[in-house]
Amino acid sequence: MTECLFCKMIAGEIQPDTVYETDDVLAFRDINPQAPTHVLVIPKRHIATINDIGTEDTELIGKLYLAAARVARDAGFAEEGYRAVMNCNGRAGQTVFHLHLHVLGGRDMNWPPG
Ligand code: 5GP
Ligand code: ZN
Repeated sequence: MTECLFCKMIAGEIQPDTVYETDDVLAFRDINPQAPTHVLVIPKRHIATINDIGTEDTELIGKLYLAAARVARDAGFAEEGYRAVMNCNGRAGQTVFHLHLHVLGGRDMNWPPG
């Protein structure tokens, strides 16, 4: 998947601002932050969208959320609250087609989201 931006980060061809990493997931700062802290948590295996998650990926998806909570704890806003959200396809505004969990914190969040 050499044309995938996030796969290039995983391969080390592009260096993101990494905040947390395991064998299975990578977490790095979003280049266009929408909150004081805006981190993307991605699986190291290429999965394009939520619709492409398979039953073989269920443990991996759990690890994305474990990493999100770790990022929130490290950033200091786990208890006050934060948002962890995944956009799927065009109408939700997905622009990078490698699964990513947005972790947004450090400000009040609105609901419903825009
Ligand atoms: P989506 O809109 O697909 O849910 O989110 C894609 C996110 O990737 C956006 O928030 C965008 O700012 C971020 N992004 C796009 N290109 C880059 C990049 O080169 N580096 C980093 N760190 N984030 C990026
Ligand atoms: Zn990819």
